Amino acid sequence: KYQGVRNMSKMREEAYIDGQWVSAKSGKTFPVLNPANGKVIANVPDMNETDAELAVDAAHKAFQTWRNTTAKERSVLLRKWFNLMEENQESLSRLLTAEAGKPLAESRGELMYGSSFLEWFAEEAKRINGEVVCSPARSREMIFIRQPAGVASLITPWNFPNAMITRKAGAALAAGCTCIIKPAEDTPLSAIAMVDLAEQAGIPPGVVNVVTSSRGNTPAIGRVLSTHNKISVLSFTGSTPVGRLLYENCARGIKRVGLELGGNAPFIVFNAADLKTTLEAFMVAKFRNAGQTCISGSRFLIQSGVYDEFVGMIKDAMETRLVVGDGMDNGVNFGPLINQSQLNKVDGLVKASIAAGAECLLGGKPHELGGLFYEPTILTNCAETTPCFEEEIFGPVVGIRKFETEEEALQIANSCDVGLAGYIFTQDVSQAWRVARQLETGMIGINEGLISAAEAAFGGVKQSGIGREGSRHGIEEYSEIKYLCFGGI
Ligand code: ADP
Repeated sequence: KYQGVRNMSKMREEAYIDGQWVSAKSGKTFPVLNPANGKVIANVPDMNETDAELAVDAAHKAFQTWRNTTAKERSVLLRKWFNLMEENQESLSRLLTAEAGKPLAESRGELMYGSSFLEWFAEEAKRINGEVVCSPARSREMIFIRQPAGVASLITPWNFPNAMITRKAGAALAAGCTCIIKPAEDTPLSAIAMVDLAEQAGIPPGVVNVVTSSRGNTPAIGRVLSTHNKISVLSFTGSTPVGRLLYENCARGIKRVGLELGGNAPFIVFNAADLKTTLEAFMVAKFRNAGQTCISGSRFLIQSGVYDEFVGMIKDAMETRLVVGDGMDNGVNFGPLINQSQLNKVDGLVKASIAAGAECLLGGKPHELGGLFYEPTILTNCAETTPCFEEEIFGPVVGIRKFETEEEALQIANSCDVGLAGYIFTQDVSQAWRVARQLETGMIGINEGLISAAEAAFGGVKQSGIGREGSRHGIEEYSEIKYLCFGGI
């Protein structure tokens, strides 16, 4: 049996509600699989709306006292949680690789990134200040104080099973909110292990709850978490269709929402690019988590003057540098896709793109290792209407389009209804500014492929979402301004 977090005799296979480790009321469980070999790693509670309602009640009860804690008290607890995450980094990384398939080095990177949100929000907790503004009347003083919004539902995806939770829960707790975490069905074990550490850190019962469920029960739980009258905030990271559904549900109760949805990142290489820097950025921006990140480069636009040379460079790097296999094995830097439906989607988009006129320069099919492995793939001659350009591919596929002018690149890049990340490569500073101003995305890497950090304001425009996570802005969703007007002075 896979050993979970160090200091624990055995990995936990329970959910966590009101400070208790619990099974589903129905007694049902569902299996968690290792995507590298299809083996069952654990069986966790398959909860439904009854369990979700208990979690909401627990979080609401806990909020009545947690809301009155001082910023310093919350900061100390978040810092303790951060310290425990650091101490258990190696076993949490192994757990992450086992359930998500990403190479161990990447899991360690995610752990550092994930923990850094707890550290960051432990610090930010002490700086959620109000304001005193100039009153228009001598007899009055006008003051804004900040108060926690209430109970927060946090629904997270499988591609960053650790960091997507800390980015939300860190901010929620810092602000004085309590929360219910609903991790993705493919990767609930990291969530359970992290919350075990939250308990060890002394975070009181009910402040953090975890509800696990299979895909089948997820819509029912999602309904509770987005419509219950004791929920004030919903923060969701995942696909645009599910985000839209939850947003609609939240509209009825006028709940606050934070949405981090799909992207389809343009990656623009101009004639003035330094191709060596660009290549390194390309490898991290494209192949982290086998291309399964929402800020992965997705639509590669390469200017004609460097087209042949750069396409040759990326083909060579993809053939020689990517080592495909079980993420737990030494030297592997490219793991399996998360599940069969993801593999089918990637393969379907590749086939449809080729049928629509794209040319396959490399890969283009499931890997000979079998299972959930897919070949690193290059498709050239893509157009705006090619399926792999129209839809975010979320896999190791590089769709390429040649362009002539800056205007043309911008027109193609902006011709889509999402806008999360974008990447620009040029040594011409004026060009970098010009294009950055006009590119319709919430984040831009300029001569850089790795843009995520706890300090960064992460989020998108258009249908990529609402709000920002991380940075000092990450707390805004979870905090309300209350205006106090002192009169008769
Ligand atoms: P993906 O296609 O990448 O799995 P999803 O948007 O389906 O992205 O999943 C992101 C998260 O949303 C997961 O935790 C998943 O369980 C959850 N989810 C999926 N469907 C619903 C739903 N109807 N209501 C609430 N959460 C959902």
